[in-house]
Amino acid sequence: MSVAVVLFTADLRLHDHPPLHAAVASADEVVPLFVRDPAVDRAGFAAPNRLAFLADCLTDLDAGLRERGGRLVVRHGDTVTEVCAVARETGAGEVHVAAGHSAFARAREDRLRRALAADGRQLRVHDAVTSVVPPGDVTPQGSDHFAVFTPYHRRWSGVPLRAPLPAPRTVRVPPGLRSDEPPARASVAGVSPAVATGGEREGRGRLRAWISQDLDAYEDRHDDLAGDATSRLSPYLHFGAVSATEAVHLARTRGGPGADAFVRQLCWRDFHQQVLAARPRAAVEDYRPRNDRWRRGAEAEEDLRAWCEGRTGYPVVDAALRQLAHEGWMHNRGRLLTASFLSKTLYLDWREGARHFSGLLVDGDVANNQLNWQWVAGTGTDSRPHRVLNPVLQGRRYDPDGAYVRRWVPELAALPGASVHEPWKLKGADRAAYDYPDPMVDLSEGLARFRRARGRN
Ligand SMILES: Cc1cc2nc3c(=O)[nH]c(=O)nc-3n(C[C@H](O)[C@H](O)[C@H](O)COP(=O)(O)OP(=O)(O)OC[C@H]3O[C@@H](n4cnc5c(N)ncnc54)[C@H](O)[C@@H]3O)c2cc1C
Repeated sequence: MSVAVVLFTADLRLHDHPPLHAAVASADEVVPLFVRDPAVDRAGFAAPNRLAFLADCLTDLDAGLRERGGRLVVRHGDTVTEVCAVARETGAGEVHVAAGHSAFARAREDRLRRALAADGRQLRVHDAVTSVVPPGDVTPQGSDHFAVFTPYHRRWSGVPLRAPLPAPRTVRVPPGLRSDEPPARASVAGVSPAVATGGEREGRGRLRAWISQDLDAYEDRHDDLAGDATSRLSPYLHFGAVSATEAVHLARTRGGPGADAFVRQLCWRDFHQQVLAARPRAAVEDYRPRNDRWRRGAEAEEDLRAWCEGRTGYPVVDAALRQLAHEGWMHNRGRLLTASFLSKTLYLDWREGARHFSGLLVDGDVANNQLNWQWVAGTGTDSRPHRVLNPVLQGRRYDPDGAYVRRWVPELAALPGASVHEPWKLKGADRAAYDYPDPMVDLSEGLARFRRARGRN
């Protein structure tokens, strides 16, 4: 009786899962294994919102496996030690895993390969599980990665995709194998009030509904803050509850400008992954240093606190930050304008903003969070690194009726239309009626300070 182990990491699904597919095809019995590794938490994963979503994903994965005659085996401890122990207990000859691209994942993979080999077992690493096109598969001449999105997108779009795989019909798990308690959402403290439900079932439902009902309008509506017309698939993609490859296939099959725009966004995901895979230090260091001397000291700390708490006095900035605190998710336009406000208008270190996002985002991951922050701060891959978004103009443009601000900043709910974007223009008793702070910084002063700092005055 041959046995194979499938180690689940950021690929918590049964459909379109190359490691599981290969294991089921090649072995009589399969151990679907997830290891709750404290080292992953220490590496920055352990935000309550993500732990809650993870718990949903594992519960759902277990349920899906049980429907197929199997179950999920959970172990707590060091990944390498636990995988080797399970392989030994079951006599498994092979361990299948999705390729990881962060420095952490690659170091873990190397350790696992060596430990298994020392035991006479093999690690089989599968590409294109967590990304559509694996980092390093398309490179420009003379470099190990693309530093500019547009040529990357062109090359990426021409790469032939593997066909999505069906979920296995049955999974036979060796009997009698110990499993630790999987984490439960209810036991996670400090979760934001409206974090989405995790899991493959939920994710696939959203993906199907999105492709059939909303995709066509995506190109026109993706920046409409109040309309909330993006897919909200990012947490499912982050945990691998939805396959990015399958999402691209479905969108391309539907076709049209909405599909093209959506697939382009999925390409951004791979773009950042291939930058981080080639330059792991970009998680913490400026990708393109600009000699910034970010503000520090007590006043800077107070400004950071006001920004984190959504009380900057710029309604659209505060609305987006409060959405983040409430849902563990923020609209992309909100992420852009709040990040620009922090790193440019307030001239605070992008790492501080990235840390706050990472503490709350359900989809928070090192590649997308850090590199998008760098992109906005002008230390990353943006070809216009010194542009500054004006929050009043952004509000008027992307929330023209003010509905998004009224939804998230209830203090201003009585202000009509676009006037909600500039409450400071109210006079006397009218202004006093609103318990909402004045702008913490004058926009032209913030702009001048940033320009000086970047030597552009
Ligand atoms: C400062 C900042 C921080 C960000 N941090 C993260 C993060 O930690 N995790 C994360 O997944 N995204 C991050 N993004 C990218 C983007 O804002 C989110 O992916 C998007 O808002 C998720 O919503 P959605 O699923 O409805 O996206 P849709 O608009 O429906 O896009 C579909 C998918 O494409 C991908 N995508 C879209 N935009 C980007 C982008 N700019 N970069 C990379 N992938 C993208 C996501 O996987 C997304 O789910 C960040 C953006 C900024 C400006």
